[in-house]
Amino acid sequence: MFSYNGMDYETVIGLEVHIELLTKTKIFCACSAAFGGEPNTHTCPVCTGQPGSLPVLNRRVVELAAAVGLALNCTIEKRPRFDRKNYFYPDNPQNYQISQLYAPLCQNGFLDVETEEGEKRLRIHEIHMEEDAGKLLHSPEGDVSFVDYNRAGVPLIEIVTEPDMRNADEVLAFLEKLRLRVQYLGASDCRMNEGSLRVDVNLSLRKKGEKTLGTRTEMKNLNSFRAVKRAIEAEALRQAKLLSEHGSVEQETRRWDDGEGVSYPMRSKEDVSDYRYFPEPDLPGLILTDEWIEDLRKGLPEFREEKRRRFVKDYGLTDYDAGVLTASKDMADFFETTAALCNNPKKTANWLMGETLRLKREAGQTEDKIPFSPEHLAKLIRLTEEGKLNSTLAKEVFFVMFREDKDPLEEAEERGLLAVTDEETMRKQIKEVLSENPGPVEQYRSGTEKVFGFLVGQTMKKLKGKGDPAVIQRILKEEL
Ligand code: ADP
Ligand code: MG
Ligand code: ZN
Repeated sequence: MFSYNGMDYETVIGLEVHIELLTKTKIFCACSAAFGGEPNTHTCPVCTGQPGSLPVLNRRVVELAAAVGLALNCTIEKRPRFDRKNYFYPDNPQNYQISQLYAPLCQNGFLDVETEEGEKRLRIHEIHMEEDAGKLLHSPEGDVSFVDYNRAGVPLIEIVTEPDMRNADEVLAFLEKLRLRVQYLGASDCRMNEGSLRVDVNLSLRKKGEKTLGTRTEMKNLNSFRAVKRAIEAEALRQAKLLSEHGSVEQETRRWDDGEGVSYPMRSKEDVSDYRYFPEPDLPGLILTDEWIEDLRKGLPEFREEKRRRFVKDYGLTDYDAGVLTASKDMADFFETTAALCNNPKKTANWLMGETLRLKREAGQTEDKIPFSPEHLAKLIRLTEEGKLNSTLAKEVFFVMFREDKDPLEEAEERGLLAVTDEETMRKQIKEVLSENPGPVEQYRSGTEKVFGFLVGQTMKKLKGKGDPAVIQRILKEEL
């Protein structure tokens, strides 16, 4: 709710979210679905729309899409069908897109998210499967355009929400949770910068207390969560201004320019009828059984909320720490593997939340992946726990491990960092320290206890900082 020119408005937002699924091959042909590649090398007659070619559905697409549906509390349609959406654009070689209109795969879902006013249920209208379009590249001079069909036919799901969101924070809470669930499923990497997660924001305003929805615009080209937030705030203001000055808003699709922080009209909004949808004649409808759906449900992973609670319970972590460690699936899996290997969850959590995240930030690594192996971190933790590596030296070894995934024991051995843990050697060196410092020894023996610290220091120096202080103190006392 916000005020503009003496009027109170409520913002109403619904999302259309496109997610590229992580399959090896495209949705209707055997071409690679990998991101990038030399232009037009991941192509064949099917995904370039050659006459006479026929689509064959990739089973994995249905599995991943339905798994996302189950993760978003949807009902799965047991007779899903495909439909043709007709439109003419050079990135769309068939002149139609195979999509779903009449019987989409997933329906009536929801996600509960945390908002300022507590938990809120945001409803999902449907999730349908479709194929991605190619990519147009325009020359800077503006006189030539190129088209790359590598992306044409990459599997997409489109998640359509109900208009349940009321501000940018709710939208971001929804998107964060959605992204995490999809990533936990391994269904997509959800990278906004590579286009594997694309968000269109539908936004309208209505006067406070009004029940019917206002006229909406649809905002495209949002390339980051930050852009989504800025675009929502700018669009609400733009519409408030229009309503206050002209009493109406034009229904249209707009393009967000994040650099300038403003949006431009792209086209007036098409109607469903503009697409002349009809059932796709080249693909049979699917028949999904209860058994297939239940098997899929059983295979769903533990999602963040459950995992976070379990980390608190099983590992004695604080809720905050468990939250950080479950913020990505890579991190959560890495934590559990390492904690099991070294049998020390607390130390594992400390290394991951402290040094690991710090170095990742410094190195500008935004991906979730951790650049060393759980085995190596576990080994490093064991070295410190056994007193073979003190915490300062452990950080040095960690640094090399972070950069090169080098075995910490090898690194410590090569650089001679391992502590002298053999008591006989230590005792021999302590005896040397004592005979080299007869003055302080005499002082200590006649009651000046403060010279003890000096003798500990001398011993440390002789051991090049590699001795366990507790053991040194004990042997020193014995020898004195
Ligand atoms: P269309 O098929 O014309 O794109 P839909 O009914 O599929 O329209 O809605 C598309 C998206 O727009 C959905 O996310 C929906 O929640 C949202 N939406 C629909 N009407 C409004 C509105 N008046 N204000 C804000 N969002 C809306
Ligand atoms: Mg729509
Ligand atoms: Zn192909």
